[in-house]
Amino acid sequence: GGGSPLFVLEDVVAGYADCTVLRGVTLEVRPGEVVALLGANGAGKSTTCAVAAGDLPATGGRVLLDGVDVTAWPAHRRARAGVLLAPEGRGVFPGLTVEENLRTWLADPGPVYDRLPQLAARRTVAAGALSGGEQQLLTLAPALVRPPRVLIADEPSLGLAPLVVRQVFDVFAELRDRGVALLLVEEKATEALAVADRVAFMRLGGVTWTGPRSEVDGDRLTAAYLGVR
Ligand code: ATP
Repeated sequence: GGGSPLFVLEDVVAGYADCTVLRGVTLEVRPGEVVALLGANGAGKSTTCAVAAGDLPATGGRVLLDGVDVTAWPAHRRARAGVLLAPEGRGVFPGLTVEENLRTWLADPGPVYDRLPQLAARRTVAAGALSGGEQQLLTLAPALVRPPRVLIADEPSLGLAPLVVRQVFDVFAELRDRGVALLLVEEKATEALAVADRVAFMRLGGVTWTGPRSEVDGDRLTAAYLGVR
């Protein structure tokens, strides 16, 4: 990654009902850059993704896309502007086959099958009968065919078998190389760090440290998860 930030959360405050979760979160993602958002359970990572995607309103601060204030934009408007949340970026219809799912948005599924051969092998199977990993790949197919500007991935490998986890991360690496700005929340720190350019640690609704992946070592990881700074 390089250049100026494409997607920015600036001092974002947000929460649920009378419970404030994010207490001023600031994050920047550049085109062609993966920012891994790490931290203990309950730190506010999923809430950050929800605000970034427009699924949860910010009650303070701003969200900027290429310098445009999109804080008040709902999720569908952000999606049209190229900000996608994965895995649920685009719904998968469980009663339709893999082929029918792809054809709801793509005239010729060939490019998807070329890139993700295991979907080709399952083309006549109902999406609802796929493994979790196959469903995840089906969900990521639109991003491969028409890369978004910003991809927000919240626990994309949750519950997936190791081989599929690698494929999902390969997709992220390819999207990064094609210039997508990626914000990645991932419990599997090793996998996240392998693809990350920069890392942000969250704790208690705030970002406690941001820096290049090269500056993250075991001590810093331990400190971040234990809440030591
Ligand atoms: P995890 O890895 O466990 O999902 P996280 O860092 O993603 O952790 P969040 O899921 O953002 O953290 O949760 C942050 C806080 O917000 C937690 O205290 C959680 O209980 C609370 N929270 C999350 N979702 C809701 C909700 N829908 N309603 C009320 N409180 C919520």
